[in-house]
Amino acid sequence: MTTTTNEAPPRQLDFIREIVDEDLKSGRYAQVITRFPPEPNGYLHIGHAKSICLNFGIAGEFGGVCNLRFDDTNPTKEEEEYAESIKRDVAWLGFSWGENLFHASDYFEQLYGYAEHLIAHGLAYVDSSTADEIRAMRGTLTEPGKESPFRGRSVEDNLDLFRRMRASEFPDGAHVLRAKIDMGSPNINMRDPVLYRIRHETHHRTGDAWCIYPLYDFAHPPSDALEHVTHSICTLEFEAHRPLYDWLIENLPVPSRPHQYEFARLNLTYTVMSKRKLLKLVEERHVAGWDDPRMPTIAGLRRRGYTPESIRNFAERVGVAKRENIIDVGLLEFCVREDLNRTAHRVMGVLRPLRVVIENYAEGQQEEFESANHPDDPSAGTRRVPFSRIIYIERDDFMEEPPKKFFRLAPGREVRLRSAYFITCTGVVKDDDGNIIELRATYDPATRGGDSPDGRKPKATLHWVSAEHALDAEVRLYDRLFSKEIADTGDDFLANINPRSLEVIEGAKVEPSVAGAQHAARYQFERLGYFSVDADSQPGRLVFNRTVTLKDTWAKVSAG
Ligand code: ATP
Ligand code: MG
Repeated sequence: MTTTTNEAPPRQLDFIREIVDEDLKSGRYAQVITRFPPEPNGYLHIGHAKSICLNFGIAGEFGGVCNLRFDDTNPTKEEEEYAESIKRDVAWLGFSWGENLFHASDYFEQLYGYAEHLIAHGLAYVDSSTADEIRAMRGTLTEPGKESPFRGRSVEDNLDLFRRMRASEFPDGAHVLRAKIDMGSPNINMRDPVLYRIRHETHHRTGDAWCIYPLYDFAHPPSDALEHVTHSICTLEFEAHRPLYDWLIENLPVPSRPHQYEFARLNLTYTVMSKRKLLKLVEERHVAGWDDPRMPTIAGLRRRGYTPESIRNFAERVGVAKRENIIDVGLLEFCVREDLNRTAHRVMGVLRPLRVVIENYAEGQQEEFESANHPDDPSAGTRRVPFSRIIYIERDDFMEEPPKKFFRLAPGREVRLRSAYFITCTGVVKDDDGNIIELRATYDPATRGGDSPDGRKPKATLHWVSAEHALDAEVRLYDRLFSKEIADTGDDFLANINPRSLEVIEGAKVEPSVAGAQHAARYQFERLGYFSVDADSQPGRLVFNRTVTLKDTWAKVSAG
């Protein structure tokens, strides 16, 4: 993996890397094996990216391996489309699982055998109570649970019933398999948790081979052990499940002894991050799809123009915490801005064009200005920008009656056109309704290239395009999808949607050097921000997404 920042100090190990480092130094493990275990029931989001960077990052840094394991124990919610999107996203982030692509469903036969092992050792039983009864017997945080009337079933009865559950003899909900641990435990996860339930459903990989499915809590520890995972890293909500994880590893004849470590999940301001809620946004058409550039999904960020480097940098900057926190989304924007500032070529584009006729520039005349593609990187080369009698400037860059602090173009005033000439506004043309439709101007031929021999310095430098040479473009400007800082307020989160998160500008004009720009190509449009070519672009129809503005809200936040 390439590192992209040069100012970053030598990395201090976070608490998980410290553990890994120590385990390798002490010889506890010869090689570290981690895994990233997504459930293929939705697209990955920026929170998953943090987990991916952590798991694959540790494997990469410590000479280990990271497995990609689909946690596909739930037959109803999982789809191939999601699994494919997950593989695409992990690879795009720059990580490789090599040969190590696994599925929890690959282990269904072994998991079944482990369940029988628990039964045979008196550590699991078939409970024929209803789901409601089981819930009622579970107790609360302050009250212990009650033992099920079926808890005393003999090993033989349990084995017989469990085998018949597998053999499809019972309808959904007739029985479950539960671990026999301790209904009086202060930890609810240890009060005889359900291990298997009957679901007559077709699984997207195992088809109709099974009608009983293991629960995540049961499937995960032995799946880790079967893959010889050394450090099973998950988010904090699983902390209270760790005693069950350890109990299973202790009591099952598994080939290795993995350990679970928990870190704080990533939360971002102005963002919701649960797959269930993202699915709702897609299904109810609040966004155009999982890859809508306003979505916090990896597919959405990619389409928006984010780079894998910027996301990896973000994950590194956020670090690995032990306590829940919420990160300013401005930091993510800062990371992409920082990366694109380094890599994106500069061009000129005008979002809302205002025609300017330069009256003393001869009709039919034209010239080209050589312009650097990157101000700090000569190796990025130069391009030729055409100039002619009629140009477009940004509508916002002109005011007929400018207030005090407006230094851009106004009647009688001179400004610099970037890399071209100084022009002075000499007239304003309006339509019958009084709308400004055109400006008249003169240029000073002595200022060619944008400098005056007499040292005159206009207060503003404007971007512009030559009308005759400019390309038409559609430009999509994005604002945050939610207008509330804490966007995830629960089931009413849709009320926090920002109604103005997308603005489509149809008639933008861009300089001709971007003709033929490939999908996903990224540019800085001078003074306007970073833009990337959207997937909707076709030959003859340019569509840009604004990836991020130039203005850095994060620097302000962190300075203040
Ligand atoms: P969600 O809660 O968004 O629906 P999930 O946890 O159900 O996500 P999984 O597919 O089970 O999604 O997640 C795969 C891995 O990604 C897990 O190890 C999980 O802990 C981790 N993960 C999910 N969300 C975040 C997050 N916001 N920050 C860090 N890691 C996360
Ligand atoms: Mg999950």
